[in-house]
Amino acid sequence: MRIPCPYCGDRDAQEFVYRGDAAPQRPHDEAAFFDYVYIRDNPAGPMREHWYHALGCRNWMVVMRDTRTHEIHGAELTR
Ligand SMILES: [Zn+2]
Repeated sequence: MRIPCPYCGDRDAQEFVYRGDAAPQRPHDEAAFFDYVYIRDNPAGPMREHWYHALGCRNWMVVMRDTRTHEIHGAELTR
């Protein structure tokens, strides 16, 4: 799988570290924190994911990937 790093260009996925779903936002109350850490969706289809280019520019990015086909639809640096 190739990931289009916005800074480095097309790179092999082995250069990256996968973090997971980019959608959940860290909650401010403790009651919701358990769900934030342990309860995650596992969608089949388009998903926004956090990836870290560990063996490249060392930037975090959001990659739009289809989990069924592994087709990448784009990537953007996180802010
Ligand atoms: Zn990069």
